[in-house]
Amino acid sequence: MRDDNCIFCKIANGDIPSATLYEDEEFRVILDLGPASKGHALILPKEHYPNLYELPDELAGKAILLAKKMAVKMTKALDCDGFNVVQNNGESAGQTVFHFHMHLIPRYKNDQAGFGWNVGELSEADREDILSRVRAVN
Ligand code: AMP
Ligand code: ZN
Repeated sequence: MRDDNCIFCKIANGDIPSATLYEDEEFRVILDLGPASKGHALILPKEHYPNLYELPDELAGKAILLAKKMAVKMTKALDCDGFNVVQNNGESAGQTVFHFHMHLIPRYKNDQAGFGWNVGELSEADREDILSRVRAVN
């Protein structure tokens, strides 16, 4: 299914032109317009699913295989030193386009990509609380 109001549906299906690195029946891989590093790309499924929670298992499996294939290909082509695969779900997690996508971010020694998180500390109380709550959900 497609969402007529979704820009990534239009890009993935070729209604809006994009810098396409790869395309098959189910996915398009495009260059991000606001790259964190040279080669920052996005894997877009052609069907509209807002996020990982709603992505069918089969497509999720294919997406990670494609991420691996692109990481290998892009590392060879761009001679990068490392690679981040990032996937945001929900506004609080930094998602701004609500059509599932995976970021492919080549990394270079001393690049200025600079994303990450502040390292906290796992308290004993949190550890026990999280373990019991997550393990209780089927
Ligand atoms: P996220 O924050 O995970 O939802 O990522 C959305 C990404 O899409 C950002 O990195 C944007 O730079 C990128 N983006 C938004 N619109 C376009 C577009 N029209 N073409 C390519 N990339 C886009
Ligand atoms: Zn969409």
